[in-house]
Parts: sequence; structure tokens; C-alpha cells
Amino acid sequence: MAYAFDPSPVVTIPVVGSSLLYPVHRIYCVGRNYAEHAREMGSDPDKEPPFFFAKAADQIVLDGKFPYPPATKDVHFEMELCVMLKSGGTDIRPEDALKHVYGYALGLDMTRRDLQNQAKKTGRPWEIGKMVEKSAPITSIVLAEKIGHPKKGKIWLDLNGVRKQESDIDQMIWDVPNQIAFLSQLWTLQAGDVIMTGTPAGVGACKKGDVMKGGVDGVGTIEVHVV
Ligand code: MN
Repeated sequence: MAYAFDPSPVVTIPVVGSSLLYPVHRIYCVGRNYAEHAREMGSDPDKEPPFFFAKAADQIVLDGKFPYPPATKDVHFEMELCVMLKSGGTDIRPEDALKHVYGYALGLDMTRRDLQNQAKKTGRPWEIGKMVEKSAPITSIVLAEKIGHPKKGKIWLDLNGVRKQESDIDQMIWDVPNQIAFLSQLWTLQAGDVIMTGTPAGVGACKKGDVMKGGVDGVGTIEVHVV
């Protein structure tokens, strides 16, 4: 049978030092995974554990350009470590989780904060705030077999050269193995799944013309221009 129209192309991410492309399945994002960021968002990390939401795979951006989205006056940057799975399953134990990790990358979880806050207030879903076109600028993947599995390292973001976010990935409430274990109790994880692991405190607004540069020690850096 022929398709009624051309199917959407597979979304892929380049891999550093390889000619292979990583085909993306889903993007899972962790909310409030750093205590100081949970507090700046007005919640108590001791009472409310982290949780997950999603973006669409085709919202990934690889050219370092983030087009300011419509219907908002308050777009925020969130600097995040990204985890790329090469296999998956259900009920994965934390001690077995890292063997499913293909590599790591850096990403920005760009957010229409004003629409997200409205959704929170009215008890509605978060997609209008989070599942935004081109809202997942991401770098090429560095292989876990090359850099290992980073457990500690500075995570930071500068807006136009001014430091806005700075913490350490060891400050995650749920570390990467526990995120994979938790997700696998709710969904069937598989090769191609990307996890955005949450952002530290210091998130803020950006505007057209701004330059966001961030990184995680031991993984690399990302630079994204708001256009
Ligand atoms: Mn985020």
C-alpha cells in the first residue's frame, strides 16, 4: 500500500566521531529535578517529587537557531543534560539502567513560561508551554563509550555572556539511572528515546537577538541564537 502523502522524515541527531545518525523516537523531559529550581518555580522539592512531560521529536533543532515562538511574551531558557538510549524495556532497575545509554548531549528546554503558568493555574496540560515548535535545540551526541557516564560536573548557561544558571549535575534529585528506572515503570522505553534531565535554578527570559551559551563539564557546550 502506498502512503496517502509523504510521511514525515525520521528525526536524527549526529554522533560525534561517527558517520552514523541517531534516530529519535520520543523526548521525555524531567520537571523540577534540581531543588533550587523547584523552589524558584514556587514548589517545595521536599513535598513534591520530580515528574515527566514530553516534547515531540520533530521539535529538535540542530542548527543553533531558535525562532522566537508565537503567542507568548515570556520565553525561558532551561539548560539541560540530555541522555540518549540505545535500548530500553520496562521495569528497568536503576543498577541496570546505564547499560541502555548510548550517549549524552546538551539541550535547551525552551518554554513559553507565561502559557505554562496559565496551564498550571487552570490545571490544564503543559503542552502549550512546553511542546513548542523548535523548542529543543540540541548538540551532537557524545558516546558513553568515549566519555563514560557523567555523574558530577558543572552545568551552566550564559545569556549574552552573563552567567544565569550554574550548578552541578550531582544536584539532580533523580539521577540518570533513577530517571530511566522511573520512566520504564510508566512507559516502554526503546532505542531512540531522549531524556532531558531537568534544569538548575536561574532560568529566565530571552528575546530575539540573544545568544545562549551553556555546557556541562565533561560533555561539551551548546550555543543557540534566538532569531
Ligand atoms: Mn526543563
